Amino acid sequence: MKKQFVVIGLGRFGGSVTKTLISLGYEVMGIDKDERRVQEYASILTHVYQGDSTDDQVMRELGIRNMDHAIVAIGEDLQSSILTTLILKDMGVKFVTAKATSDYHQRVLEGVGADHIVHPERDTGVRVAHQVTSKNMIEYLELSPEYSLVEIIAPETFGRKTLKTLDFRAKFGCSVMAIRRTNNELVVSPHADEIIFEGDMLVIIGKNTDIARFERTFED
Ligand code: ATP
Repeated sequence: MKKQFVVIGLGRFGGSVTKTLISLGYEVMGIDKDERRVQEYASILTHVYQGDSTDDQVMRELGIRNMDHAIVAIGEDLQSSILTTLILKDMGVKFVTAKATSDYHQRVLEGVGADHIVHPERDTGVRVAHQVTSKNMIEYLELSPEYSLVEIIAPETFGRKTLKTLDFRAKFGCSVMAIRRTNNELVVSPHADEIIFEGDMLVIIGKNTDIARFERTFED
């Protein structure tokens, strides 16, 4: 079954994460205390609710504990961001990504159990959405409206196979531009006979639609 996401706070950042996850084919629940934000997302989300995420009763009623991954996209209101993260971890949500606006904010979020911290000034919503869909995905950059670059850690299933055997180009229309080995050795423009080892980092370029298809094979 596909991972289920809940995005709390549908501001610019949370909204961008939400839209990208939807475009990648995921189910997303949205929560915001502002009714206007909820209205704005009513047409793209099946489940979008108006509510205060610092109210654990509200969170329980919405069934948040069954979500695989929560993204706390509240920025300005530190208290809300911290309390929401605490409630989510307390309820047993497996993985919580939280947005930090400063290093101090980051330290507190880690203290209350956030599993992953993002900084909106360097991590765009689009990038974060790609990162949260797979633990193998370490970087996502949109190069143009049509093309993107991803960095992926080779899973066990790629291990000890050549690029020719894996055949990303025929299967997904994506090209491997470089391989960084676990000993940091960099192989640029690898030959088709190059062998991939589990843990290698692959730098891959392709059309957004092809990359999205490729990424789906990495879902946790
Ligand atoms: P942006 O991503 O637009 O830059 P921001 O960093 O200014 O946003 P905020 O405005 O603090 O972030 O919050 C983003 C969204 O989170 C807003 O739509 C706000 O209504 C919502 N929000 C803030 N606190 C809560 C809360 N306790 N419960 C639910 N939603 C909340």
